[in-house]
Amino acid sequence: MSMALEDLYREVIMDHYRSPHHKGRVEGATGDVEMLNPTCGDEIRVSFRVEDGRIADVAFQGRGCSISMASASMMTDAVIGKTVEEARTLIAAFSELMQGGAAGPELGDLVSLQGVARFPVRIKCATLPWTTLEKGLTAATDGVGG
Ligand code: ZN
Repeated sequence: MSMALEDLYREVIMDHYRSPHHKGRVEGATGDVEMLNPTCGDEIRVSFRVEDGRIADVAFQGRGCSISMASASMMTDAVIGKTVEEARTLIAAFSELMQGGAAGPELGDLVSLQGVARFPVRIKCATLPWTTLEKGLTAATDGVGG
């Protein structure tokens, strides 16, 4: 990866960190889950509302490092409007990316977090919001019987 690209990626991450998208809590949430990353001290709470199998709204609250907060912000942009299945596919694709996998076009701006894969101690920062959403989706899906 060229330095120029790394600078661009760093800028995308810092933009999301400084001005997070979808920060707060969703009205009438059908899922609301909180998780911690004790290694770094990141705390995140993701709430969402699923309507007709689609993520109608999603938001996050929390505090932590720039990687965890930027990842949460980008995640909300990425999954809003997607079906639960599409969101699960994206969660899996992002997890692949963090394990050094290739960046598919479906990841969009999320490729800016690709460099995190080279720093094993930070991978949990990036994946925390996604793990939290996945846990919430699983709980919500189980709750309504599929
Ligand atoms: Zn962190």
